[in-house]
Amino acid sequence: MSSVTANKQKAFSLDLNRCTGCGACVIACTTENSRRQTLNWREVYTFNEIHLPGVPLFNFSLGCNHCASPACVRACPALAVTKDPHTGAVIVNPEHCLGCKYCTWACPYDAPRFNAASGVTEKCDFCNERLKREELPACVSICPTHALQLTDLDDEIPKPAIQGFTEAGLQPAIRFKPLRSPQGFPECSSPSTPEAIGRLFESSQRLPQPKITLKSEWALLIFTSLAFCLVALLTASLAGRLRINPYLFIGAGAFAMGLSTIHLGKKFRAYRAIFNLKSSWLSREIFLFSAFLCLAFLYLFFFPTFIWLSWIAVLLGFLGLFAIDRIYQVALKTNPLNFHSAHTLFDGLYLTGALLGDYLLFTLFGVIKLLLYLYRKYYFKRFHRKTRPILSFLRLFFGFIVPGTLFITRPDLVPADLNWTGLYGLFIASLLLGEFIDRTEFYDELEIVTPRKQMLIDLERSFKKKNPKRASPTSQ
Ligand code: SF4
Repeated sequence: MSSVTANKQKAFSLDLNRCTGCGACVIACTTENSRRQTLNWREVYTFNEIHLPGVPLFNFSLGCNHCASPACVRACPALAVTKDPHTGAVIVNPEHCLGCKYCTWACPYDAPRFNAASGVTEKCDFCNERLKREELPACVSICPTHALQLTDLDDEIPKPAIQGFTEAGLQPAIRFKPLRSPQGFPECSSPSTPEAIGRLFESSQRLPQPKITLKSEWALLIFTSLAFCLVALLTASLAGRLRINPYLFIGAGAFAMGLSTIHLGKKFRAYRAIFNLKSSWLSREIFLFSAFLCLAFLYLFFFPTFIWLSWIAVLLGFLGLFAIDRIYQVALKTNPLNFHSAHTLFDGLYLTGALLGDYLLFTLFGVIKLLLYLYRKYYFKRFHRKTRPILSFLRLFFGFIVPGTLFITRPDLVPADLNWTGLYGLFIASLLLGEFIDRTEFYDELEIVTPRKQMLIDLERSFKKKNPKRASPTSQ
């Protein structure tokens, strides 16, 4: 039986042999938290609900796992997510949350959920008030089969790798009692039937809308594009003779900063975005890019002779680009390499090389980006994902073929005074168009792991084991 001992880190324990997926825990959670809750904080997920032959069928009842090393706490730029040191509960403070949704990207268990109406994130809080009163969480107290229980985190309950449950190194406070006899499930002697393949395909279509989409994050697409352009422009103006208009430059920077707040649920709390420099890449990005703009402003308008000031701005700018790329590391990799051709750091260096006509920078980062792009397309083709041949051609044509050809064949391409007229302007415009197409694809391909997605990934693995020669039916 579950019991509550004060001041001990707690964990859920789920017996997969007993959970029938009745949903009583979900109802208890909603009833208990009805005054604060507008979205489900707990959900029951069924592994292999399409009954793929020879693969076990069971249910996960999941809320927040109150991880010992919570990704949401580290990611939150506003210090709005904290861990209760007594019970281990991970709690969102709605008064501090700025609605950036970064915790919903960082958590692979889909626990934090963004409430568009209130503009903040909400999630299971372990019924922390009940725990403090030494009562069981509502979901545990109601479970009719005693599948869901509460245990102390240091209990000697085995931590098996469970199919369908993401292992992300966060030390989730949940323990599973695995199915008694995996061998007890009859192995399918024949390859999966067309019906099973069809059902697997249908289940992939029923996946909820991805958390990051091009449509929802268009403002971030423009912000990140402007960010690398501004950093490259300032660098080129210092290292070469490129003239930048201070009003346009600072205006574009302010516009980019404004755009980056558009997706916030609570825009007037945007100042909180730099509160977690210690662990949040989002905080670091905002801080570094703001510092870059402030120093550039001082240099361009007040201290044009202080060259060192602008070099510090450039350094902060490139660090800011690095921080932008780190933010997106929470997404599923689009290929086994953890680099992407649309990384803003590479974009900034490539554009700087082009602006200056610097052979080494332009060629080095051009080749790196080209190889990464081609490798990703090859990987997508191999695993039957969308390769978008027309868009790919346009990306290659404008981003590499036109600028590369001009760069090689026209020694006079980069004018001595770096003004924008003639072929030089065309060269830069073409390169930027190619980069913009790549960034658009990048946002469109971003995917965040969720329990449903993880189940589908593992189900596909099971399918592949049984049907090594067949293309996965869920490949897009
Ligand atoms: Fe944070 Fe997700 Fe872990 Fe809950 S399950 S503590 S929301 S990372």
